[in-house]
Amino acid sequence: MYYNELETLPRDKLRELQDTQLRQIIGYVYERVPFYQEQFKKLGIQPGDIRSVEDLPGLPFTRKQDLKDHYPFGMLAVPREQTIRVHASSGTTGRATVVCYTRNDIDIFSEVMARSFIAAGARPGMLLHNAYGYGLFTGGLGTHYGAEKLGMTVVPVSGGMTQRQITLILDLKPEVICCTPSYAQTLGEEFKKMGITPQDLSLKYALLGAEPWTETIRANVDANLGVRSTNLYGLSEIIGPGVSQECIEGRAGSHIWEDHFYPEVVDANTGEPLPDGQEGVLIFTHLTREAMPLLRYWTGDITYLTHEPCACGRTHVRMGSIRGRADDMLIIRGANLYPTQIEEVLKSIPEVVPHYQVVVKREGTLDDVEVKVEVAEDVFREITQEAWSEDILEADHQMRNLRDSIQSEIKGIIGLNMKVTLMVPGTIPRSEGGKLRRVVDLRKL
Ligand SMILES: [Zn+2]
Repeated sequence: MYYNELETLPRDKLRELQDTQLRQIIGYVYERVPFYQEQFKKLGIQPGDIRSVEDLPGLPFTRKQDLKDHYPFGMLAVPREQTIRVHASSGTTGRATVVCYTRNDIDIFSEVMARSFIAAGARPGMLLHNAYGYGLFTGGLGTHYGAEKLGMTVVPVSGGMTQRQITLILDLKPEVICCTPSYAQTLGEEFKKMGITPQDLSLKYALLGAEPWTETIRANVDANLGVRSTNLYGLSEIIGPGVSQECIEGRAGSHIWEDHFYPEVVDANTGEPLPDGQEGVLIFTHLTREAMPLLRYWTGDITYLTHEPCACGRTHVRMGSIRGRADDMLIIRGANLYPTQIEEVLKSIPEVVPHYQVVVKREGTLDDVEVKVEVAEDVFREITQEAWSEDILEADHQMRNLRDSIQSEIKGIIGLNMKVTLMVPGTIPRSEGGKLRRVVDLRKL
């Protein structure tokens, strides 16, 4: 089942539509956004020079810094009075990024989210437990409006207050849940502690997003909540959640709603476009936004694209799961490292669970990486500290062997020496609904 016929448009028709929309939006931003007009003039480009999405690599990228430089309303293509909503990204590092929506933008936002719900298995009439944060963050309201448009019943619970969430899930019996993958894990663990099995739960489908996750986390969430979870991707600068969504039929990459958001993947260092299957930075060009259309927006997210036909019949291109952010990429002793690479190694070791934290320090001139990982409940033996220190390991051969084998696995697969610390179950910080920091880089302090 699809939300509308655009999702299965033949590729040549989709391209025609994209090219027409692109020509319109290029003329539109040239007329209305001084930032783009200046850029075009500086490069000696006329709006008419861009005829097709194939011409896009001739344009520069728009970066988050450009939005910050024009904070708050300098990138608007319409008078502020014509917008009906403002969202903002968390301003943890300096100024927040503000985005605005016209009524038409909100309609598109709701439509792409409605498509996403259908793709994830949800249907009109189902009850949605929406644990995404409501507020300036786009997650809560974006999914909310999409679910209402589809005709679902929305429980706008927002993030946090886990006990209340548990009660609501048990009492109202939702079929669908939206939250971050780490929060889905938190909920799953709570149910397990309470002795509630997945069979006792009404949940069937979970749309998870707003942070990178892996197949290990998916297996964990599916097992503990009794759902088939899918990836929901988005970012406020493009629209919010619903830029792309994994279909329940394939669960192998997320369909980008590319009649609204045209994607490219480019080399992180050179900016050159990359072919299908190659990992690089994901770039989006708005084809239909009114309030704040962006050309070639540099998301910083690392992934790849595939145009392989999908089991669900949708023709829209798929993106792989997010490998990390270009700015989360750690450079350790000159080598590139994404936290998800460590996670991939840990998932092959049954004695540990996928709760981990990476701490990077600099000792003298050398980078030092410590991986803290929780021991699985059934391997855990009572100790009085939260981690197995060297002197405890001295006496505990089994745990020492486990630690050593994880260290050598990491060394063997990633090629870097890392110190592994075994942690007592439950000691690594859990998500409370917001974004989880897997990496603590003390070199920057
Ligand atoms: Zn599909």
